[in-house]
This record gives sequence, C-alpha cells and structure tokens, in this order.
Amino acid sequence: MCGLTNPSGCVILEAMDSLNIPALAAKIPDEDSAYRFLEEMRWGDRPVCPHCGSAKRPYFLAPKNGGRKTRTGTISTRRVWKCSEGACRKQFSVLTGTIMHRTKISVRAWVFTMYEMCASKNGVSAREIQRKYNVTAEAAWFMCHRIREAMKREPLAGLLSGTVTADETWVGGKPKNKHARERHSKDHYGREDKTAVLSLVQRETGEVRSQVVPNVRGKTLKAVIEAEVNLPETVLHTDNSLAYTHLGWEAARHESVNHIMGEYVRGDVTTNHAEGYFSQLKRSLDGTHHAVSRTHLHRYLAQFDYLYSTRKMSDTQRMARLMGQTAGRRLTYRPLTERA
Ligand SMILES: [Zn+2]
Repeated sequence: MCGLTNPSGCVILEAMDSLNIPALAAKIPDEDSAYRFLEEMRWGDRPVCPHCGSAKRPYFLAPKNGGRKTRTGTISTRRVWKCSEGACRKQFSVLTGTIMHRTKISVRAWVFTMYEMCASKNGVSAREIQRKYNVTAEAAWFMCHRIREAMKREPLAGLLSGTVTADETWVGGKPKNKHARERHSKDHYGREDKTAVLSLVQRETGEVRSQVVPNVRGKTLKAVIEAEVNLPETVLHTDNSLAYTHLGWEAARHESVNHIMGEYVRGDVTTNHAEGYFSQLKRSLDGTHHAVSRTHLHRYLAQFDYLYSTRKMSDTQRMARLMGQTAGRRLTYRPLTERA
C-alpha cells in the first residue's frame, strides 16, 4: 500500500482510515488546519523543499500575531517554510509546485473537493462544489479540471502486459442519438456527434487506461494498443469486431468472443471488464456531468480511469495517492490556467 503513495502518506492513512465528510469537517475547521492536513499527507512529519529536494529541517516562518503580513498589507494564514540548505534558502509552502499553487481558492475548498472527487463513484459536478463550498462557478470548474489533471497516470508509466482486454465505445451525442444501433449518428451539420473511446483493462491489476480515438478503424486501434501494451508478453482479449481481427497481432495470444453470436464469456475470455467500466463511465457522464464536450472528455476519462484503477483502495488511500500525484503537474495545462 505504501508503495503506491509517498512514504509519508502512510502516517495519515493509518490515523484516518475511516475518513468521511463529517470527520474531515471536524479535522479541518479552517485554513490553517487545511494546510497542516496537506503537509501531513505530502510530507509526514518533515517538510521536503520542493525547490532542491532537501529534507534538511527547514525554518518555519511563524505567522506573527495570528498571521503574516503580505506585501499588499493583508494578513495571510499561509504556512510558509524556508529551506535551510545553504545553496537554496528559498521559501515554500505545501502548495508549491502542486496543482493548488498560485490560486486564490481557499485550501480548505481544495481539500474537500479532492476528497469528494476521490470518494464519489459517479464523480461530483462543479455546480455541486460551487454550492457546497461557497466558491465561484469558475473556481469550482477550475479545481475539478485541475484535480482531473492530477489523476492522470504518470507520464512514464510502463506498458501493460499479462491479460489485457481492449474494447471501444461511443460516448456523448444528443439523447435522441443514443441508441446503440445509431453508432455513427450525425449532428445537425452532418458531423459525428459521438466520440469514440478505447479502453484497455489489465485483468490482474485492474488498471484501466482509456483514451479518445479519432475513429474505430483497425489501424487506429492497433496503433494505440501497440503504444500502451507490451504485446509479446500479453494475452489480448477483444470482441470479434473486424477492427481487431486480421491485424496480425504480435501478442502472445489473441482471443476474441463473438458478441454477434451472443457469446460474451468463453472460458476466461471476455470483454466484460471493459463493458463494466463503460457502463459506469456513461452513468457518470449522463447522471452527474451531463454535457461533456469532446475537448474536455480526456480529463473525465483520466478521472474515471483513476477511480476504477484504485477501486480496491479506501477513499483515504485514494486521496493520499492523489496528493502524491498533485506535485509536478502544474505546468501541463496552460490552456486551463488561461481560462481561469
Ligand atoms: Zn531548498
């Protein structure tokens, strides 16, 4: 378990295994406690300088008379540290280098939004966050998308191997076009109004990786699968759609079930894992998030991939792991920053 998060995450995991909203509200009544909570999650009992990586005990710049005066004369409750490494000496807080850095949103709102997004199977809408935590609609939208960004898998995650199920589906589109048989529905202007998504589910670990694909032609799917899967060490399970057959897979074995003939499981060959993921994804997109545009769909996929891949964890473990992933993701989404 500890290997999944930053080592210090374990401290808080043990203490807070039954985290829920009332418990969180009691533990985090104000901004100061929200900082402390994040510090404990990110660093355990010793802050690590995000600028130089030194764990040499930093100086705590204690807020004088209940708060630190900022340049503009307002009182800040930020908990600020100063690196004690001679060559560095830079100031930092627990937010430095994370998705929360340089935002004007309260840290408490961040913590609660992260928790809600980790604990809710169907996800939580920006509107709900706006209402519950008294932030602006813009701030809520921004937080949710930044958290989704942190939920993305590590850029250097290795290839999948073992038993991998590949399956595709169509999401979005107008309600009248949602019947499965109208897969290539067009909108008013003749454009396809559904978006194709390919998901790969690793059977042994339960990890899922999804992505938006421009179409479901064999060539396209094959290229994506080859980029994510170590084929020679993989047994590939698919349905028998033409997109997957006759492609000359380099997989150790390729097995397919014949959905047209009503065959969904044959021995251990099935695409049911991917189907289960898709039904949860669609329930959430339809029920909680309503109209998700094609532009942002990849972020929602990151969120549901994360929730599905960590479904065996407790909410607290899932949140601690997310906290470990929030660092270093800040620069990857300039377009979002511009909008906020
Ligand atoms: Zn430093």
